[in-house]
Amino acid sequence: MGSAAALFKPDWLTYPSDPAALDLTIWESSFQRDETGELTVDGTPVSALREQFGTPAYVFSESVFRARARGFREAFTEAFAHHGAEVSVYYAGKSFLCTAVAAWAKDEGLNLDTASGGELAVGLRAGMPGERIALHGNNKSEAELRRALENNVGRIVADSADEVRLIARVAADMGVTAPVMLRLTPGVHASTHDFIATAHEDQKFGQSLVPGTAQLAGFHADELESMGLRTDDAYATVSVALALAADHIDLRGFHCHIGSQIFEAEGFSQAAKKVLGYLNEINHRFNVTLPEIDLGGGYGIGYVEGEKPRAARDVATELADSVSKTCADLGMAIPHLSFEPGRSIAGPSGITLYTVGTIKNVSIEDEHGDTRVRRYVSVDGGMSDNARPVLYEADYTAVLANRAPEGDQVLSRVVGKHCESGDIVVRYVYLPEDLKAGDVLAVPATGAYCYALSSNYNMLTRPPVVATSADAEPRAIVRRETEDDLLARDLGNV
Ligand SMILES: *Cc1c(COP(=O)(O)O)cnc(C)c1O
Repeated sequence: MGSAAALFKPDWLTYPSDPAALDLTIWESSFQRDETGELTVDGTPVSALREQFGTPAYVFSESVFRARARGFREAFTEAFAHHGAEVSVYYAGKSFLCTAVAAWAKDEGLNLDTASGGELAVGLRAGMPGERIALHGNNKSEAELRRALENNVGRIVADSADEVRLIARVAADMGVTAPVMLRLTPGVHASTHDFIATAHEDQKFGQSLVPGTAQLAGFHADELESMGLRTDDAYATVSVALALAADHIDLRGFHCHIGSQIFEAEGFSQAAKKVLGYLNEINHRFNVTLPEIDLGGGYGIGYVEGEKPRAARDVATELADSVSKTCADLGMAIPHLSFEPGRSIAGPSGITLYTVGTIKNVSIEDEHGDTRVRRYVSVDGGMSDNARPVLYEADYTAVLANRAPEGDQVLSRVVGKHCESGDIVVRYVYLPEDLKAGDVLAVPATGAYCYALSSNYNMLTRPPVVATSADAEPRAIVRRETEDDLLARDLGNV
């Protein structure tokens, strides 16, 4: 919420009237307090989870993941079916990927988005059919492209003219046809409640639709002419011409991804309008019917109080209505649509359990120059298991999990154990005054981009991922790292 500027406490944080209540925009129904006040996950108390798996631990509810994956697929499928259109939903593996999770996504009828050869390998190991996997990335290696084509991936999303040429060469070499989509920069960048329209996007992803950008990118007039293009063509159109001219490329359509943690459908609608307009233009100009567009991911979730993430069904309905209207205005049939949610499926499925260690009250000056006390609560993990607060100034919340959070609540900052003062897990949270070493804290909404971004900083071993579900015993789906793991690649003083 960009609250890093608040000295003492941001406005959105309120003193909890019922400290035991779990905010339903952050906590899914698999997370409940039992009659003693202890937090349970799919019925298992956190103290039992700690006893069996230790802390820190990522606890990931299979029930929540499956329900959200299915819910997303059904919401988008139904909303677009209402307009006679078909959709595919890809789970964005980069948000949280291991073989169990890829298998759950497959079971729930989702396809898989991958962003590297490694993510592709995990998807294949999980039994996801190649045809249901997409390969993304702005700098795919030849080896990654070969691996993708060997496994008949459903599509490769190309991000530059160079890459279209590389795919054409590799596919020709292998004697196969590569299904390709082109990633565009639609000139719409969305954030949580807003979007900005910019002509030129200063970022590495995507290909410009702005007239004249082909020449600006270094394609000379004679070169463009030899491809049947004009001097005022957009950079993306060069990639289109290259892809259409390549015997071993099957150009499927266009892709865009406009940001992350977005709550409103408006940014997606604006981007869809740009991409559909371009698709229509290309279809007429090159006398083709490109069958697909992909509108990416980026659907927001609740991390802290006061946020209002939209239900998948509402966003899907709004988007389907606007896509249908845009296509009607353009006089074209609605193409096949794809969506790539990551965070909105994985994020609310996972929490992180930590054990409290050192507690220290620190005197600080607030906005008015008054001296106040902030309580620093240290836990046994930190920026190595959740890099988002450091990377993005992301806000989280935390609750006392092993017992009921009763009595007075104290403004606290939850910090990790790393040698870095920026090692903050939760910047602002009220926690019980009687919090003590040995208590368990649970940080919700850590299912996405936490394990995925984890590191061994300070030689900490990475936590396990423990899966829970309503009808099975909790079990590790990724085990805790050991000191042997830490030293496994260290070849000694050779
Ligand atoms: C990151 C990414 C996603 C997923 O984004 P979320 O915010 O996790 O939904 C989808 N598609 C592409 C191309 C991405 O880079």
